[in-house]
Amino acid sequence: MSEISPDSHYMQLPREVLIGSNVVSSVGETLTRLSFGGPALIVTGPKVISLGATLVEASLRRVGIKSQTIVTQSATTEQVELVQREIEHVKPDILVAVGGGKDIDVAKLSSMRSGRTFVSVPTTASHDGIASPVVSMKEADRPYSFVAHSPIAIIADTSIIASSPYRLIASGCGDVVAKYTAVRDWKLAHRIKNEYYGDYAAELALMSSRLIIRNANVIKAMSSSGVHTLVEALISCGVAMSIAGTSRPCSGAEHLFSHALTMIAPKPALHGEQCGVGTIMCAYLHGANWQLIRDVLHRIGAPTTAKELGIDPEHIVEALTKAHSIRPDRYTILGESGLTSEAAQRVASITGVIS
Ligand SMILES: [Zn+2]
Repeated sequence: MSEISPDSHYMQLPREVLIGSNVVSSVGETLTRLSFGGPALIVTGPKVISLGATLVEASLRRVGIKSQTIVTQSATTEQVELVQREIEHVKPDILVAVGGGKDIDVAKLSSMRSGRTFVSVPTTASHDGIASPVVSMKEADRPYSFVAHSPIAIIADTSIIASSPYRLIASGCGDVVAKYTAVRDWKLAHRIKNEYYGDYAAELALMSSRLIIRNANVIKAMSSSGVHTLVEALISCGVAMSIAGTSRPCSGAEHLFSHALTMIAPKPALHGEQCGVGTIMCAYLHGANWQLIRDVLHRIGAPTTAKELGIDPEHIVEALTKAHSIRPDRYTILGESGLTSEAAQRVASITGVIS
């Protein structure tokens, strides 16, 4: 291969995206169209095996693709290694991830490590990992994330997603609204640290958050167009990360706050729920319209306060003070030394997150 110039930029994008009701029955045809003949390894979670995985299995069988299914328990290194061993055994030419963000993350990482590609079949829309190249793992109770690879196809069945608990839908909205501050942090890091910044990826992430802001009522009504809008927005966020080659357009201080909270709180809330509350406070720090974010989340029915998250106010304050240290290479509005306890208390009180 000829040498790649240092100013070149690599993007890996999904090749096929299918969104709609009952599209899960098209997984087999999609694999055939992409020239995969099997066997396929289905990676799924214990909760979704009866829901999505059996439908995927049937779809593969109809086009003559043999498959085996492995059930994963959580997004940990051990589970990834377990799936890697199964890949050695089954020798699949493709992995099909059926489930929520955790199941998809395990398939994403194990497929990359084993030199395979994967198809994402999300059964929930609780965060943007369903379509992104980014993997979030947990090791020694510490969350960390990094770029792995993008799914070759995304098949998002809105009838399955719409039947998931509403809390997951609201959480997905929180993760998309978070791009409002993530992009502001990215721009800041570009200005202060001369970090790479891409307008196209940034605009795509911002457009997704605008879509959720505009369609809050439709999403709350759980109309099919509301679920469709959320799924499209989450996929656009995934594509924004694929274009940027980093999670930057989708993850700023509000995500660092959420990661810190997950480590500190005895009973953390959902990723998107925490990111949404983080976005209210980080929008305030940016001098942006934090009231708009709070009102949108409220209309959607996502948490906007510590109480609604089910988390003690002191853990919110502590997470705000520790967020900057979660990922020191990621410059955000929190700066290099972070917020003092007094400043954190003030931000959380003014925005009504704690009272
Ligand atoms: Zn996120």
